[in-house]
Amino acid sequence: MAHKKKERGPGNNEPKQTPGEEQATAESEPEFSQGPPREETGELEGAVNEAEGELDNLEAEAKKLDWIDRVIDAMSPYKMELSGFWNRNASWTTYNNEEEAERHSREIRKRNEEELAQEGEGETATESQEARFEWARNIGGFFEKYIIPVTPIINAIERRRNRRFNEDITEDLMTRERLGDELYEAVADAPPVLTTESEEFFELGDRVSGSTACGRYYCYTNHITIESSEGGKNEADRREIIAHEQRHYYSHKGRSVNGNASPPDWLDEGITELGAQRYVREEGFQPSGVSYQTEVAATAYLEDVVQSEMGEVAGAEALERAYLTGDFSNIEKAVDKVLGKGTFAEFVEKENGAEALEFLASKIKESGLDYSGWNDDVVLQDTWLDLGEIWKNA
Ligand SMILES: [Zn+2]
Repeated sequence: MAHKKKERGPGNNEPKQTPGEEQATAESEPEFSQGPPREETGELEGAVNEAEGELDNLEAEAKKLDWIDRVIDAMSPYKMELSGFWNRNASWTTYNNEEEAERHSREIRKRNEEELAQEGEGETATESQEARFEWARNIGGFFEKYIIPVTPIINAIERRRNRRFNEDITEDLMTRERLGDELYEAVADAPPVLTTESEEFFELGDRVSGSTACGRYYCYTNHITIESSEGGKNEADRREIIAHEQRHYYSHKGRSVNGNASPPDWLDEGITELGAQRYVREEGFQPSGVSYQTEVAATAYLEDVVQSEMGEVAGAEALERAYLTGDFSNIEKAVDKVLGKGTFAEFVEKENGAEALEFLASKIKESGLDYSGWNDDVVLQDTWLDLGEIWKNA
């Protein structure tokens, strides 16, 4: 079972966008082509009939979508329970060495290729190779002469560096103190295996999943893979991506150990990214950006609310504990005490980070809490969100 988590978009030096939040540009107004003028009335009638038929089809499609939406809505109260059931009953397939993990990658790749072939989409190997060479060309021109052998060499170097960092992080991040005895015992025997894969591997995955990623974590296996070029660009970002994926790994494991549900995806990503960003900064690295911006902001303000009730250290610890065990009851209690009964339940029902952020900010404003210092958080500032605007509109 491979459950994919989407990560950053491909442009490493550009501000990172939350996947699915493509920026709309003013220039991208669609242009309508009129086509050649039709000379015969019969042809025109035919075209009208055709268009009407098309409209009927669209209407039928819309009805189907509406029906699906209603089913999803009806199911949403059970979503957390379902994921708890899954966590309790899923079997873990663990990949304990690089060879097994690489075999896993080959299986994933093959499956993605088969899936795309079924959809009748063409291969884009050439495009992907070009993109890879383009990347190689861009690294200061240094490797220009050696463009062909560069990628495998870098892959080999990255593999070694990643393996070493994977060991580091196991010692620094996955400690008994951070994880608690039970979870520590569960993960210490088999820390995740980390592999790097080509850009092409990720492109295939992106096309199948419809999201861009440069790191993937396979839930219920302890396999993390990151894109090799991403690993070669910036030490801080490389560490941040790996830390992010590691956090997914042990939080899933923690919920499984405790038999609890996962929080909604946006909150899961928010806590995962916020924690990874802080960890990497504690280690003295400055990532070039923050992924999942609105999710991170909603999480940071959630933590502020909890801290206003529990105190700074205890509040941060309580949120991390909830993340690791899936038990958010203490968080719910604190939030509801500060912002009113039912607030937390309403918060986690939000569809995405942006909606959750808007909701939470308005609740905070309404409560009269003093949030004036909250925007000083460096990770929050590095999201490049217009924080002032968020509070102004709340
Ligand atoms: Zn993630």
